[in-house]
Amino acid sequence: MDTSKYRAKLRSDGGILLGERISCDGFAYGRPFRVQTHIHADHMVAFDTSKANQTILMSPETRALLCAIYNADLPYRPQVCAVSPDTTFVAEDEHIDLLPSNHMLGSVQVQVTLADGYRVGYSSDFFWPLEKVVEVDELVVDSTYGDPTRTRLYDQQVVEEGCDYQVR
Ligand SMILES: [Zn+2]
Repeated sequence: MDTSKYRAKLRSDGGILLGERISCDGFAYGRPFRVQTHIHADHMVAFDTSKANQTILMSPETRALLCAIYNADLPYRPQVCAVSPDTTFVAEDEHIDLLPSNHMLGSVQVQVTLADGYRVGYSSDFFWPLEKVVEVDELVVDSTYGDPTRTRLYDQQVVEEGCDYQVR
């Protein structure tokens, strides 16, 4: 399968590349921007490297959590930027929109509109239902609980009603 035509890519370290300038939840050489979708440890790969080399975009809530929990010097770093859900961040010729993903406080989905209008996105971890979803031509969907040994034999209604359930 020829994957070279895709403009959204998954790295072996878990980082996601969108377009030509943006990495998500990971560092990549030559990419001046990183989006931090949320603060769970499996999404914090190479954060310190990104702090020294990239402009890092995140929701205001994620920025506050990172400042409080992970690193006291973040409030003084101008390249660690909070982007509100109703704001489009212009990253040179690519445009970044962050939409809430309802996974945890401050978590976001990522939509990037490339210079030619083509749109790529990353769901990150998300929880259904979502008020808004990214609208893109290519989407990387996070595979939380994607392991076949973790198939849940119940539906959302059962969870919300607090009934007993069985995990295979
Ligand atoms: Zn998570």
